[in-house]
Amino acid sequence: MKVAAVAPGQGSTRRAVPGSRLRPGILLDRDGTIIVDHGYVGSIDRVDFIDGAPEAIASFNRAGVPVAVVTNQAGVARGMYGIDDVAQVHEYITAHLAKCGAHIDLFLFSPYHPAGVVAEYARASEDRKPRPGMARAAAQALGLELTTSWVVGDRPEDLGLAEAIGASAVYLGPDECNRPGVWPFPSLAVAAPFILERINA
Ligand SMILES: [Mg+2]
Repeated sequence: MKVAAVAPGQGSTRRAVPGSRLRPGILLDRDGTIIVDHGYVGSIDRVDFIDGAPEAIASFNRAGVPVAVVTNQAGVARGMYGIDDVAQVHEYITAHLAKCGAHIDLFLFSPYHPAGVVAEYARASEDRKPRPGMARAAAQALGLELTTSWVVGDRPEDLGLAEAIGASAVYLGPDECNRPGVWPFPSLAVAAPFILERINA
């Protein structure tokens, strides 16, 4: 089962055209990358945007680079919140980004976790990062070439995803990261110009 929620009202979104050339995109983690990772964010009252993240996304939009959110939401498998709650959070994020002149072209989330308690989602899945399911779904939907795309996230599973699909990786956070092919930055805001300089080069 593929769980996807596509944000409405994407006026400037360019969908993949059959037969057209594939293009690089940016695959963004959600919690710890766009919004503060409070741990299992399943309601809008717990959504706090990270400084500069909406503006960074707007800069990707202006450059015409497709942006997908790919987020593990094990809270669903763990019975902490439901699919509809995730969709509501994504609608809220969409509305806030719109105020900043930014949009996400595609929201994808994985509700699975092997240690979950909700039978439907209590299993391993190709859609759970670092497995590449969500990235491949995003590539299909947006016409992305994954090997020239970028993954941005704050956890090892984000770096694992980048490795699994052959993409470049930006690692956000205070920790050192010495892995080859991984660029560490303190925030999406600081990373955005670096990515934009390279993504279409
Ligand atoms: Mg994260």
